[in-house]
Amino acid sequence: MIPALLPNYARADLAFERGEGAWLWTVDGRRFLDFGSGIATASLGHAHPHLVQAIADQAGKVMHTSNLYRIPQAERLAQRLVDATFADSVFFCNSGAEANEGMIKMMRRAMSDAGKPERFRFICFEGAFHGRTLATLAATGNHHYLEGFGPVVEGFDHVPFNNMNAVRDKIGPQTCGIIVEPVQGEGGVRPADMQFLRDLRAVCDEYGIILGMDEVQTGIGRTGKLFAHEWAGITPDVMSSAKGIGGGFPLGAVLAKEQYAKALKPGTHGTTYGGNPLACAAGNAVLDVVLAPGFLEEVQRKGARLRSELDKIAAEFPTVFENARGLGLLLGLKCVMPQGQVQAACVAEGLMAITAGDNVLRLAPPLVVTDSDIEQGVAMLRRAAAKCAGSASRAAAQ
Ligand SMILES: *Cc1c(COP(=O)(O)O)cnc(C)c1O
Repeated sequence: MIPALLPNYARADLAFERGEGAWLWTVDGRRFLDFGSGIATASLGHAHPHLVQAIADQAGKVMHTSNLYRIPQAERLAQRLVDATFADSVFFCNSGAEANEGMIKMMRRAMSDAGKPERFRFICFEGAFHGRTLATLAATGNHHYLEGFGPVVEGFDHVPFNNMNAVRDKIGPQTCGIIVEPVQGEGGVRPADMQFLRDLRAVCDEYGIILGMDEVQTGIGRTGKLFAHEWAGITPDVMSSAKGIGGGFPLGAVLAKEQYAKALKPGTHGTTYGGNPLACAAGNAVLDVVLAPGFLEEVQRKGARLRSELDKIAAEFPTVFENARGLGLLLGLKCVMPQGQVQAACVAEGLMAITAGDNVLRLAPPLVVTDSDIEQGVAMLRRAAAKCAGSASRAAAQ
């Protein structure tokens, strides 16, 4: 008989009761170091006092009123995001897929309003992940996710990541824009070359097409900048954000330059929950922390520290890991043996890591991770790697 909770996930048999910072305790009292952050989402860790207080205070006043009325918390959050980024205006929603769906609609509508409705196609990348709605699945382009769900939404073309010639080849009279993750997260923690991002900006300007950046996983400080495209010294035209933006409270956003934002006039797009007072109170509390002086520099420092330890571990255990990669606190270890085996060995040591495509073990600790947490996490990872290396050499001897 099917369980009451629909079994569409392969869940680990762990249930958590409470957390504090980077640590989680199971209902049966075991303690784990969370280097997955609920898939790069609990950016302030667990039970962060400022975020908890902001949510509790707002919940005690008013949670939801709908977008039929003004929402001061959303106006404030939008203004702060505008002040901190390239964007002139922000649309709020509830998830990453919804943010990308909104971004795709905004890009198409802006082209249509500019008198070029025939320009509706997007160039996307192999290994991308943009979400699970029908349009974002088409943008993702992974046939495993598309199978059995009917005709694929029209207008998404895929080319190899970090390959500018392939991009240039694909641009045609129907091209609306390019959608790219500055670091492919689900695809295996694969950073775009900085020059590739700069070249994408240039080619969009050259052809008058729109540069859309999916920063759902990379944004809100994850890579040590507020948004990862800043590392390349460029700005997109439109951008999606979610995951860490609410610190674990569901929130997503589309940030855009005025020229594109103005395409979503009243009646063109909307949501019931999106940007409600409670979600935006959470978003504002996250920004209080992430935009505090020195916070992002600390993310950079801690990311570099963890990365150098991962480099050492990869070199120590060549039968387990090929190499380390990533940006800031979005890091990956390309595995030699199946990633799931390494992940299970980590859990046995008390370390929660997540997997990603391309046989990568992904580490995305909360941005508030401490040096002591990093030290302990590295020790657990090293013990897990040693066990995996032992089982690899036993298997080789047989
Ligand atoms: C997680 C993710 C999404 C989808 O976000 P959901 O909140 O799961 O809908 C989209 N794009 C990227 C880059 C992501 O990492």
